[in-house]
Amino acid sequence: MTLDMRAQVSLKAFNSFGIDVRAQLFAQARNDADVREALAYAAVQQLPLLVIGGGSNLLLTRDIAALVLRMATRGIRVLQDDGSQVVVEAEAGEAWHPFVLWTLEQGFSGLENLSLIPGTVGAAPMQNIGAYGVEIKDVFVGLTALDRQTGELRDFNLAECNFGYRDSLFKHEVGRWLILRVRFALSRVAHLKLDYGPVQQRLAEQGITQATPSDVSRAICSIRREKLPDPAQLGNAGSFFKNPLVSPALAAELKGLYPDLVAYPQADGQMKLAAGWLIDKAGWKGFRDGDAGVHSLQALVLVNYGAATGEEIADLAQRIQQDIAQRFKVELEMEPNRY
Ligand code: FAD
Ligand code: NAP
Repeated sequence: MTLDMRAQVSLKAFNSFGIDVRAQLFAQARNDADVREALAYAAVQQLPLLVIGGGSNLLLTRDIAALVLRMATRGIRVLQDDGSQVVVEAEAGEAWHPFVLWTLEQGFSGLENLSLIPGTVGAAPMQNIGAYGVEIKDVFVGLTALDRQTGELRDFNLAECNFGYRDSLFKHEVGRWLILRVRFALSRVAHLKLDYGPVQQRLAEQGITQATPSDVSRAICSIRREKLPDPAQLGNAGSFFKNPLVSPALAAELKGLYPDLVAYPQADGQMKLAAGWLIDKAGWKGFRDGDAGVHSLQALVLVNYGAATGEEIADLAQRIQQDIAQRFKVELEMEPNRY
């Protein structure tokens, strides 16, 4: 047995909300053999197994009666290179943002808009991470996952992952697939996506007219550092709610009542409303109850000022959901994974 398992470990340092709950058992997987050993041990002990990466999309509301396995596998490799297109594979435990920076240093573009997202490569497909008009599905080639039911390895291609808005097959088949490594198709020829106003504005402010992928990455990092709380300073899990998709009729009705409503038409005819705008409009921005609060600069981010429990964050979220439903007839869906 090589896996170092410890009992009754605080998970405070392993979730970006900084919630202090305990794992019955805790271990870090550094290779596939560690993963298999953890699964076998959990099966023999009849203990659930919870896989985590960086803990940046979790809301932990109680002690976890499970073996918590943190993915710490490492490795990045170029699998194919035809001179213009490359396929890069990274192990699940690689930290996302350093991986993005590595691709940019190699001259590979495609991931620049996803700069400074916390977490790991292995968790990125879970909710098809997205920012500034790019989602990983746009550059995704495939992944290898372990089927926890059969112990077999399975390769998934793009279509098989059922990626949607902050959604995937893996979010629905909870606990079945343990993602080991992910493959991305990147390009030496940049095809920049600069639709989002703040990115264009930041580049213009910097006098950049012919942006490179690294320029875009730096611009996005600077915007994010200004707007989003750093989990090392103030506990949070990024956006707490997904942006709701509503009918054009409801969006038009709300636009009549609130001319400054932020709404974007979607390819399927629905309208995407900015959840942060709704929460701000309802007066929640900067709200604080004990140590649970709504960030003062970004209403979509719930924060832990220090000693909030997961239940207190969840209670605050529920109050916001009820208020938004009453005011705007819009249901807000929580984004982080609750345990
Ligand atoms: P965790 O929180 O550890 O886990 C998330 C879920 O995935 C859990 O259900 C866990 O069980 C499961 N999981 C983790 N690893 C694996 C694996 N290898 N195999 C199977 N299941 C696994 N998200 C965005 O989409 N866009 C953003 O712009 C963005 N910005 C953020 C900014 C901040 C400040 C913060 C705190 C969060 C932000 N997020 C954003 C949310 C979060 O960073 C991402 O969802 C990230 O991919 C989560 O990665 P993680 O490794 O921390 O996952
Ligand atoms: P923002 O620029 O204030 O915009 C508010 C919302 O409007 C965003 O959520 C975005 O939706 C939408 N939007 C803005 N411009 C758009 C356009 N040109 N086309 C379509 N939709 C547009 O947003 P923000 O809060 O600062 O976040 C910036 C980006 O980072 C967003 O893409 C956001 O999703 C991402 N982000 C995600 C998290 C997370 O935890 N999930 C945390 C921080 C930031 P989308 O969210 O659908 O892009």
